[in-house]
Amino acid sequence: MPQLLKDVLSRHFIHAVVWAKPNVNAFFIASVAFLGTLLPASAAQFVTLGTGGVTGVYYPTGGSICRLVNKNRKEHGIRCSVESTGGSVFNLNAIRDGDLDMGVVQSDWQFHAFHGTNLFADAGPNDQLRSLFSIYPEPFTVVARADAGIASFDDLKGKRVNVGNPGSGQRATLEVLMEAKGWTMDDFSLVSELKSGAQSKALCTGQIDAMVFAVGHPSGSVKEATTSCDSVLVDVSGPLVDKLIEENEYYRKAIIPAGLYSGSNTDTKTFGVGATLVSTTAVPEEVIYQIVKAVFESFDDFKRLHPAFANLTKKEMVRDGLSAPLHPGARRYFLEAGLL
Ligand code: GLU
Repeated sequence: MPQLLKDVLSRHFIHAVVWAKPNVNAFFIASVAFLGTLLPASAAQFVTLGTGGVTGVYYPTGGSICRLVNKNRKEHGIRCSVESTGGSVFNLNAIRDGDLDMGVVQSDWQFHAFHGTNLFADAGPNDQLRSLFSIYPEPFTVVARADAGIASFDDLKGKRVNVGNPGSGQRATLEVLMEAKGWTMDDFSLVSELKSGAQSKALCTGQIDAMVFAVGHPSGSVKEATTSCDSVLVDVSGPLVDKLIEENEYYRKAIIPAGLYSGSNTDTKTFGVGATLVSTTAVPEEVIYQIVKAVFESFDDFKRLHPAFANLTKKEMVRDGLSAPLHPGARRYFLEAGLL
């Protein structure tokens, strides 16, 4: 028995003995009750999962994953809890620092964190980063007020734009696109750095002309922006975007289908990344095995938990957008399930 546990027990027993002196049965009951509270706690493994703002899709995605894991808590002893965070880049930094065990992150920033490129050049490669699976596509989404005269991404020049909070994936991906176009923040007449949860309101109260979000669809935030006021989804396409897609494995062409949001009756053409789930080698194989198993063994239930999951297939989730090596726990499950 570990020394610490012995110490705790002997201290407790002394108290119990003093308290139970007149009655041996009471002593026995108190000791058993104490052990009952001690044992499950010492066996439990807590894992934290970083997501994004509460009106995005990461947050309910993390909630769905943890819900499936926690359903079988009695069998595996793992307790999963979700945290709302600033988004992908925040999650990758927090995982590196050991402040989060897992995170939902964009495939482009997963790539850069693992390779130590772009925003992660100073920190260097995180060779402990591991992927679990990819989830759903995240089109780079620009929503503009209908009265702002914005019909394409290039019309954002000179406008009031919410570029997103530092730490969010959309802010970082927007900066890549701006760099490709040779733009700086001075190309906008006003720049705000609101978190995703606040930007729809800012759009509809007229504080900004456009907002940017890399997000799965349908998303609560975009729904709010397109139902609370007249606003439209804007194309992000053209030769420069095509070049970005061609040169970077983590970008794809993306379409936001017509009719998904009010005010957008034609397809919106843009580019996109993938939402992926990552962790680190610091989390034990068995823990990740159980987490991946919980999602994949209840796959039909999982797909019903958010409309952005409706078209998911297991094969694609194991294959797409995973730049970091698979975590050994995920690999074990996928091999066992015949998915690798
Ligand atoms: N893609 C966004 C990010 O990486 C978050 C999207 C969401 O919250 O659903 O920060």
